[in-house]
Amino acid sequence: MTDLRIAIAGAGGRMGLANIRAVHATPGLVLHSAFDRPGATAVGRDAGELAGLGALGVVIGDDPEAALEGAEAIIDFTAPAVSVMLAEFAATRELIHIVGTTGCSREEDWSIQKAGSAGARIVKSGNFSPGLNLLLGLVRQAAAALPGYDVEILEMHHNKKVDAPSGTALMLGRAAAEGRGIDLDEHAVRARDGHTGMRVPGSIGFQALRGGAVVGEHSVILAGDTERIEIVHRAQDRGMFAAGAVQAALWAKDQPAGFYSMADVLGL
Ligand code: NAD
Repeated sequence: MTDLRIAIAGAGGRMGLANIRAVHATPGLVLHSAFDRPGATAVGRDAGELAGLGALGVVIGDDPEAALEGAEAIIDFTAPAVSVMLAEFAATRELIHIVGTTGCSREEDWSIQKAGSAGARIVKSGNFSPGLNLLLGLVRQAAAALPGYDVEILEMHHNKKVDAPSGTALMLGRAAAEGRGIDLDEHAVRARDGHTGMRVPGSIGFQALRGGAVVGEHSVILAGDTERIEIVHRAQDRGMFAAGAVQAALWAKDQPAGFYSMADVLGL
């Protein structure tokens, strides 16, 4: 069987570099191309050299169409508008599109999902870590078993992160809402400031901290009157997200066109 030809979007980014390393390290995958936005400092550099692997002969370009020529899959951790555009490319070319980008609006999410019914094989997740995806089941279970407990979600990320709450915090909130049989959008309280009044029973609160080089930390707190449960996940290295993304690409190879989550990849 021939290796799956991967294009890395946002190749010069924190996750882009981790994805280049993960593709290089994974049997069955080959780095076909890499690209970033026009003007990015990574453009024109060898992808392998930039990722600390030594030269691989793949020069980072700035033209997505050229980069996708001959590619079978895109691994894309970039920005919402870029992921929407790449999902459209993926649909017309019947590509695998692994989307790690967070902070998408409802409309952007919908456009990406639509590409799944128009010929692309899309796997989108706000968190590609297998451990975190497993944790979602625990949160769902805890929220269902302890209906009177207040659910609060606290997250911390590095000081370059541009969206809040994190995609992972929203996934955890959605899992808690599913456990309670409620709609997250109707019960989410995204931040508190000033004279807020008392906590609304049944709400799911979010708080976002930003600082330093924190890769990603999430706590789901279930607070009762006499006890507090905290379910915590700490990401220590972006390599774990990248390993999940390449696992998703290999899995998607054998799937029909459609829109999938990391839970589908892991069979959860
Ligand atoms: P980053 O800013 O380091 O990297 C983003 C890269 O995308 C940059 O190199 C940027 O130049 C590039 N880019 C921007 N516009 C582009 C375009 N038009 N074409 C090609 N490339 C373009 O950010 P990061 O820390 O790598 O995170 C990227 C995204 O991935 C964020 O949304 C982040 O929240 C998300 N993320 C998701 C997971 C997950 O598991 N799902 C894990 C970590 C980060």
